Parts: sequence; C-alpha cells; structure tokens
Amino acid sequence: MIFPEPMMTDQIQRFLFERTNVRGEIVTLERAYGEVLERHGYPPAVNRLLGELLAAVALLTDTVKLDGILSIEVRGQGALSLLMAESNPGGELRAIARLAEDTSLPEGEAAFRELVGEGHIVITLDPREGNRYQGIVALDHDSLAGCLEAYFSQSEQLPTQLWLRADGERAGGLLLQRLPDESQNQDEDAWERTVQLAKTLQTDELLGLEQRELLHRLYHEETVRVFEPKALRFGCTCSRERIGEALLTLGAEELRNVLAEQGEIETQCHFCHTHYRFGESEVEALLHEQGGAAPTLH
Ligand SMILES: [Zn+2]
Repeated sequence: MIFPEPMMTDQIQRFLFERTNVRGEIVTLERAYGEVLERHGYPPAVNRLLGELLAAVALLTDTVKLDGILSIEVRGQGALSLLMAESNPGGELRAIARLAEDTSLPEGEAAFRELVGEGHIVITLDPREGNRYQGIVALDHDSLAGCLEAYFSQSEQLPTQLWLRADGERAGGLLLQRLPDESQNQDEDAWERTVQLAKTLQTDELLGLEQRELLHRLYHEETVRVFEPKALRFGCTCSRERIGEALLTLGAEELRNVLAEQGEIETQCHFCHTHYRFGESEVEALLHEQGGAAPTLH
C-alpha cells in the first residue's frame, strides 16, 4: 500500500449514522503504541495484544465520555499474567504487560486465550468527580474484543461490537454501539446492517487506511456524520507522590529494612521506567504522614 502523505494516526474519531440510534468510534495508534513498546522488550505476541488493549482503552474512554482515569486490566493465570492499559483526560495512554515467571510463551501467532489462560478483566472508571466504578468480566471469550463486548452488555446494557487489531507497529479499533433511545431511529435495520458491514473489515484496512477513508469504504451507502478527531499520545501519570504512596503499601518494616541495607530506596515506574530515589528522611516523612506512627529503631 502506498501513502502519498503521512497517515493521520494517534487519534480517535467519533461518528454516527444519521436518523438511527447507532454510533461509533474509530481509533488508530502508531507513535503512542511505539512509545509503549520501546520501553519494554516484550515478545511479538504480547506486543500485538498490548496494541489491542491500547486501542480498547481509547475506545472505552471516549464511549463512556469519562473525565477521569479509565483502566483495563487483564488478569490471567496463563503465561501472560497481567496486561494493563490506562487513559487519562489529557488523551494520554500508557500500558504494561507482565509475564508469569518460569513459563514460556507459546510460539508464533498465539491466540489471546492461549496467552492469558483463565481469569478476568477488571475495568475501572475513576472520574475526577464522583465515585469510582469497577466492572469485572470473565475471560471466557476467544478474543479481547469478545470479552469487552460482554462487559458492555453486562455493565452498560448497551449492545456494543468491537474490532481490535494490532501488528506491532500500528494498533486500530472500531466500536459500534446501539443507543437505547429508539425515538430518533427511523431505520430499524441500521444496527444489523452496520455491524454486518463492519464484519467485512480487514486488518490491513483498519491499520492502514485513514479513518475517514475507512468509514467511506465500509459505509458509503450510509449517511455518516463524523465529529472532530481527538489527538491521543503516550503519557505516564507517575509522580513522586504516587510512587511514594505505592511504596507505603510495602509496610514500614520492609521500607526500613531496605533503607538499613541500601541507604536509600530506589524504584522505577513500571510504565515509563523513570527512576525514583527516596532517602531515609523522605521515607520517614511518608510513614509519618500515613499513620502518624512514631519511628521505631531496630
Ligand atoms: Zn511513569
């Protein structure tokens, strides 16, 4: 395929079909995906799944119109024990994978369920204002998209279909959703028809075509209204404060043991690999703030 100009990637585009209650989102990621992958040395099968998860987290965030942090965690008992992607309101995405120790990944084009095994997906919506919401679905579909569709029917009770693809260089996703409001719907077949057309989508189309071109190719007989695309990029939300809070979960005794042995606590963010160092006085200040507990000497 030849592209005369650099393709517009790293953006999400909302659209709807006029006079129906069907809406959609399309996302394409390249730089943000590359920046996640270059920080780690995951095997190709993991890189593909991480791409799908990044596309999914972007689609979900825009679909639920969340002003906050949304994360999707795939927790399995297979060779891939954790896969996590997170978005924040600035259009920033980050992701990480964790491989189980002492296991080897299946060779070649390993399927989703082969990698993750039994387990579940936890979806957390943490709005800037209001309560945190968590939804859980079992890993009982053959693809990540299938599991997330189950989440939508359970938690949001909205018929939703998702297509996710990634090849290690680009990640793409398409989401269609039927809204509950039937009063605006003048086209009873719209949902079935738009889903059937989306099922003809090829991986190279989703990853290689401009978003508007892809919508035209699939839906040139429909009246599609597209909205302004939103830019997405890699970004990490780690900070000294958040890393400090995470350290406290190790407990005072463990922290003081490390300080006694090493003089300081050195740690790094798993997502972006930024190093953080905490000296004794800083750790004691954190412990003091946490519980007001008086430092004990060993
Ligand atoms: Zn970070």
